[in-house]
Amino acid sequence: MTTWLKVLPKMTGMFSALLMLGFFVGPQSNVMAACVQTSSSQAGSVLQTPGLAGKTIVVDAGHGGSDSGARGVSSVQEKKITLAVAHKLTNYLHEAGATVVMTRSTDKDLATEDDRMRKRRHMGDLKGRLDVVTKQPIDAFVSVHCNAAPSPAWHGAQVLYLRTNDDGKQLATLMQQAFQQTLLSTKRSIQSNQTLYLLKRIEGPAVLAEIGFITNPEEAHWLQKESYQDKVALTMYVALNRYFEGQSDTQKPKTVLT
Ligand SMILES: [Zn+2]
Repeated sequence: MTTWLKVLPKMTGMFSALLMLGFFVGPQSNVMAACVQTSSSQAGSVLQTPGLAGKTIVVDAGHGGSDSGARGVSSVQEKKITLAVAHKLTNYLHEAGATVVMTRSTDKDLATEDDRMRKRRHMGDLKGRLDVVTKQPIDAFVSVHCNAAPSPAWHGAQVLYLRTNDDGKQLATLMQQAFQQTLLSTKRSIQSNQTLYLLKRIEGPAVLAEIGFITNPEEAHWLQKESYQDKVALTMYVALNRYFEGQSDTQKPKTVLT
């Protein structure tokens, strides 16, 4: 109670929104307990987020337009979930003082008409996203996707990074840990990759988050719910904040020495 009383005067719109959106009510009782524990012990960082202020983050909502991405149970489309989560993540990052660049903010892809005519829409889309990223120096890149599998049994969020990118691996590790604490139960761990177009071309903390399988009935159900989408976004935001707070921690000894 004492903690809450200290925090209340600093309560921002973001935190109020979390309470209203029922962030602390998870799909499973153990998830709820984990959320409450994490949030109350870290309420200060959620509210103040010194790690993210002034950072430029690219939020990439996977697919869009004619590319609906994977199709899940009940014909749920990946592109709709990724866009909804990307918007929510963007809002959290804005509240934390970050500059956010979205590769897309509406239901469209980034291929040009010329790409379509030449039947290279997919590559054109990826190049269009890279163009958005390279327009300015950035501090982090997060691509949001949903997974799909032939078997409905496959489930769980998983974060991918480029095998040779240590910063990406570090952010992926933090995000995977956060996913395990707050989202639907999973034993999945981070996965290295050598082929993803965007991750191969972006330096620094760059990850692709598969936020769950839309071919798994339970996960598809939750991924379509605004409250769960909000929880996914908040979890990604917390991971980004932890990453940058960790960066500033590791820089502190250097300051002391000089
Ligand atoms: Zn995808």
